[in-house]
Order: sequence, then structure tokens, then C-alpha cells
Amino acid sequence: MAKDVTTIPYKTYLTEEEMPKQWYNVRADMKKKPAPLVNPGTLKPMTAEELEGVFCSELVQQELDDTTPYIDIPEEIRSFYRMYRPSPLVRAYCLEKKLDTPAKIYYKYEGNNTSGSHKLNSAATQAYYAKNQGLKGVTTETGAGQWGTALSMACSYFGLDCKVFMVKTSYEQKPFRREVMRTYGAEVTASPSDTTEVGRKLLEEFPGTGGSLGCAISEAVEAAVTREGYRYVLGSVLNQVLLHQSVIGLETHKAFEKIGVTPDIIIGCAGGGSNLGGLIAPFMGEKLRGEKDYRIVAVEPASCPSFTRGKYLYDFCDTGKVCPLAKMYTLGNGFMPSPIHAGGLRFHGMSPALSELYDQGLMEAVSYEQTEVFEAAEMFARVEGILPAPESSHAIKAAIDEALKCKETGEEKNIVFGLTGTGYFDLVAYQQFNDGTMTDYIPTDEDLEAGLAFVPPQPEE
Ligand SMILES: *Cc1c(COP(=O)(O)O)cnc(C)c1O
Repeated sequence: MAKDVTTIPYKTYLTEEEMPKQWYNVRADMKKKPAPLVNPGTLKPMTAEELEGVFCSELVQQELDDTTPYIDIPEEIRSFYRMYRPSPLVRAYCLEKKLDTPAKIYYKYEGNNTSGSHKLNSAATQAYYAKNQGLKGVTTETGAGQWGTALSMACSYFGLDCKVFMVKTSYEQKPFRREVMRTYGAEVTASPSDTTEVGRKLLEEFPGTGGSLGCAISEAVEAAVTREGYRYVLGSVLNQVLLHQSVIGLETHKAFEKIGVTPDIIIGCAGGGSNLGGLIAPFMGEKLRGEKDYRIVAVEPASCPSFTRGKYLYDFCDTGKVCPLAKMYTLGNGFMPSPIHAGGLRFHGMSPALSELYDQGLMEAVSYEQTEVFEAAEMFARVEGILPAPESSHAIKAAIDEALKCKETGEEKNIVFGLTGTGYFDLVAYQQFNDGTMTDYIPTDEDLEAGLAFVPPQPEE
């Protein structure tokens, strides 16, 4: 019998010494930079001063910095990271065997912390800078609850007050995450609420509404700007969040170096783009500098297809239209996603940085329907032993499809995908899948037109 000569371990970890000491800012290597955030009143780029009314000062600097490639990770954040990082780069031997593919599949697993997802990487960073600035607390929104959970943990660690506006349907239907947040000391309010002007207006206009992410953002921003010593923080979309999440990609890059492997295809699910932006950062940097080439694939739900069916336009990030305009692939701020369960992938827009990279043809995008995504999740859970989050399962589905293509062609490609989190709080969705009652919804062209009807006047570029 042939001896198994492979030397690649199931899991590759970095040592504490090897863990990144700096984040990597991919914008520094982009010749054409992402479009700036724009003031909706003046249609001029937001200045640092304007942004500092809403966001922490240090984070505003990071948001606007298009030129510094490496930014130091403060020691306090590195020691927080050490509690749950490095995350493993796992070789999916069992999945490869199940698929009978010559492809080599790897995943970077970010679910090994109590919040259950990669969101803690940016939550810790944002909480640290808020505390460092002497603020009392931060406000934010959360949809399915992952970001709120991560931020609550980070705020309790750094000693900050945390006010979370949670989309009402999730608040009512997902009590478990709500209770994790409260356990970490956060104040959780169902959105829309009567605690803000935006919320009261929405309740009057749409009584009985279950809320939306866009609406919760408006409430959280209002709650921050009307309180002394508070700032608003956001868990995805923004340049700063992608910067913090680059820790995922930097670890992945180094782990591949350690085992002497170069990935061919890099895959990630895309909601607002933070995990994908983080995972691909150093690889995209090599691609932009002309050093290496990779196929980079964003995966989104067919029910909320920002990249694959959206338009590259300036749009509001929130329903209340209090936030700056961002140029991004968007379904329009009027888009109402169907209540699918991949809660973290339901945002109407996409990171401006990834949007620009996509527009330049430097990455691809695919979309999948919910049921096929859960089929992939089930297969993965059974062979790899991890119950994946529905969001992450979009990336699993795409990786499986790529591996099956390799089976046809006989190619031994190296595929890596981001496994962003666990699915333990998504068991109602798994129940529907197991009961065979899960439905797929693909928006019609009319639905998409309706979403884009509220796109604001476009600034001159
Ligand atoms: C929030 C979330 C996502 C999507 O957010 P991105 O900003 O696009 O990364 C993906 N997976 C999990 C587990 C999440 O919690």
C-alpha cells in the first residue's frame, strides 16, 4: 500500500510570537481608491471633523487612511486577541474524502469564541479605541445578534457602556443572543423603539413593523450623537472594520507559508464584506502589486444579491438617512430582504473597498439559494464536526462546488474559505431545513427596482 506522504496537519496554528503585530490596509496598494464617504447634504466627501461627531477619533483616522499599508495593533488589543486567537487553518481532509475530489480544501475557522464569529476582531478594536479616547460608551445595531454579542463582550472587557438596538423580529425570535448580550452587561432595545426620534417616526408610519438593520442603524446613530460621551460603532462595511479583520487574512497567509502551500481560490461569504475583506487582504495586496494571482470569490444569498444584481452607486447605509452616503454595490436603501435566516448577510449594500475591487474585476461573486446552502452546511457538519453558521455556509457551498469542478477536470487546486462562525443560535433555521419547510426566495426585477427608487442624487466624481 502506498504510504500516506502528506505532511500537512489537520490544523495549522501560529505561535503567539507569529501572530500579526500590524493590520494590513489593502487600500494603500489600490491604485484607484475606494470612493470616499460623502455628506448627504453637501454631497462633498466627509471630513475627519464631521466623522468625529459620530465615530471615535482614532477609528476616523483609520477610516480615511488610504495610504498607510501597515498599522500597529496596540498591545492591549493583541492581548485580547490572544484569548481566542490564533484561529486554526484547517485542512478539510474529511470533506475532500466525502467529495472524492483531488482538490485540497482548507478553511479558516473564526467560531472559537463565545460570540461565535469573526466579529469579535473588530469589536475588541473599536471598544479599545473608544475607551482610550475617554468615552463612556458606544451604541450600535444588531440584526441576528452576532455583532451585538461580540461588542457586548468587548465592552465589558474594556469597561464601556454598550447600547444595542436589535432588529425587533430578532429581538423577539432570537432571545438567546439577546440574553448573552445582557449577561455581558449591554442594554438591548428592540428596534424600532420609542427611545429615538427616528424610531418613533417609523413606528407611527409602520405600526407593527418588525424593523430592519437600516432602521436600527439610524436609531443607534441618533442615540450616540444625542448623548455626551458616546459614539456609534459599526460591525461591517466600513474601511476600518475591514482593516481590523485583516488579522484573519494575515494569519491565513502566514499559516500557508508555514505549510508551504499557495492557495489558488479564496472564498468568503459577503454580507457587508468584513470577513471577506479581512481574509483576502494580504492576498489581494499581492495581486494588486502584481506579485501573485489568486481567484477571489464573494458568496452572497440569492435573496440579497448586492454584488451579483446590485448597482454601483452612492447610497444611504440606513433607512433613516442619517448616515453618510457610501459608494457601493447596493440593492437600494429601500430594499426589503425576505426574512431568510442568514441574518448577517441581509444588508442592502456592500463594503465600498470590496465594491471598488469587484468593479475593477479583481474578484468574482456568486449567489446561492438558502436550501442548497443548508444542504452544504449539513454535509459539512456531518464530516467536519462543526455546525456552521448559515452565513458561513454560503462559503462552504461555493468551496464544495469548486472542489467538484476539480473532480471533473482532475485539477488539484488549493481552495481556502472563511468559516466565519457557528450555527448554535440558528437552530430554528436548521429546524426548518430538517422539517423540509425551508423556502427560497429570489427577488424579482420589480423588487429590485423598488429598492433602488430611494437612491439619493449622485455626487459628481
Ligand atoms: C456578520 C456575519 C457575517 C457577514 O458579515 P461580513 O461583514 O460580510 O463578514 C458572516 N458570517 C457570520 C458568522 C457573521 O456573524
